[in-house]
Amino acid sequence: MTINRRNFLKAVAGSGAMLAAGGQSALASEKKLPPEAVGILYDSNLCIGCQACMHACKEANNMPVEHTGPNKTWDNPIDLSSKTLNIIKIQTNGNESYFIKRQCMHCLNPACVNACPVSALQKDKTTGVVTYNKEACIGCRYCQVACPYNIPKFEWDNPFPQIQKCQLCDHLYEQGRYAACCESCPTGASLFGPVKELRKEAERRLMMTPGKYYQFPVNSISSGKTRSHKAKPYTQHIYGAEEVGGSQCMMLAGVDFKDLGLPDLPKTSYVSDLESISKNFYKYMIYPVFALGGLIYIVRKRHDHE
Ligand code: SF4
Repeated sequence: MTINRRNFLKAVAGSGAMLAAGGQSALASEKKLPPEAVGILYDSNLCIGCQACMHACKEANNMPVEHTGPNKTWDNPIDLSSKTLNIIKIQTNGNESYFIKRQCMHCLNPACVNACPVSALQKDKTTGVVTYNKEACIGCRYCQVACPYNIPKFEWDNPFPQIQKCQLCDHLYEQGRYAACCESCPTGASLFGPVKELRKEAERRLMMTPGKYYQFPVNSISSGKTRSHKAKPYTQHIYGAEEVGGSQCMMLAGVDFKDLGLPDLPKTSYVSDLESISKNFYKYMIYPVFALGGLIYIVRKRHDHE
């Protein structure tokens, strides 16, 4: 991936606070999976574009419907917005159409969390969900600039604006529920579960023989429900598993992820890239400090002599 102006700005936004703070360890290098990390595996090959997940997301998060264009009959957003935290988009390639889900990826080393000067965005230490605290937010929108996936949205039309983004329906966990998009998905295209198990499930799918029938878990990996689908060919890549240090949401598809409109990102996070620059900066600062110490010693010796 080339470093262009936008990527550079994202890296700076993600790490500027750390540089100012003297390179403290808040931005540790690539992060490990939290102990009970949960996430979503989205499989474009299983998605039928019914948008049940979008409807369930709006209901679970109290989000209003959004009308785009003259059609005012139903909710029809064209992209993520402050009213739409999860969207199924359609990409057409020749005669073929493919679906892709966009939402917060719940990065392991989230640039938004690191860019936020007031810790309004935080990564939950147990589940790894990237949460937002509207009481702490000062509306600076650094998170918007820092996010490599362009996810957080600002409420421009609200006199008391907030940042909006998917929080993996963490408010439902206490009721024994989980991400509403996965609860409502009829095909298993959006699957909730522990990240380690989702990764294994993704790897299993990549090994499938196209044309053969397999059982696919539905809703949550531990729901016990399955559906039989004929496997389609998969692009041999789990998108999100390694991009910018890895994330808790991952995707599978039958085409190149770039053709689905997903950004082509490096394996290391912008945060850790800037962290290594700052570490080296502070490491090599040791030489000027020694030189200065030597100069002071010489000057003092001369002064004493005189
Ligand atoms: Fe933050 Fe963007 Fe990663 Fe979500 S996708 S955790 S908003 S950096």
